[in-house]
Amino acid sequence: MTCPYCEENRAHRSHRKGLNDRMHLLFKQIPYRCKNCSRRLYAYRAGEDSPRMRTHEERKIMELRRRLRWKRTKRELVIYGFGALCFAVVIYFLIRPSTPASGG
Ligand SMILES: [Zn+2]
Repeated sequence: MTCPYCEENRAHRSHRKGLNDRMHLLFKQIPYRCKNCSRRLYAYRAGEDSPRMRTHEERKIMELRRRLRWKRTKRELVIYGFGALCFAVVIYFLIRPSTPASGG
């Protein structure tokens, strides 16, 4: 692993510690430490994949996927909402006082 600061190939995987490292792990980034300048840096685990992951198209695909998932969630919410509304209407007709027009 080449260190981006001093451009020496002396960066090694560092032990993760602290909340900061865990946050980076959420984004599939793991901590490295350079033995030359002793700086810490974060890199994607799949080294070769990382440049491709950040291309514009890849990001667009991820965004599209997320939007599709949100659309599905929204549709489910609409269905549940409609069901709840129907239920409320039925309950309303069941419990409402009898109208004066009925019967005689
Ligand atoms: Zn370095």
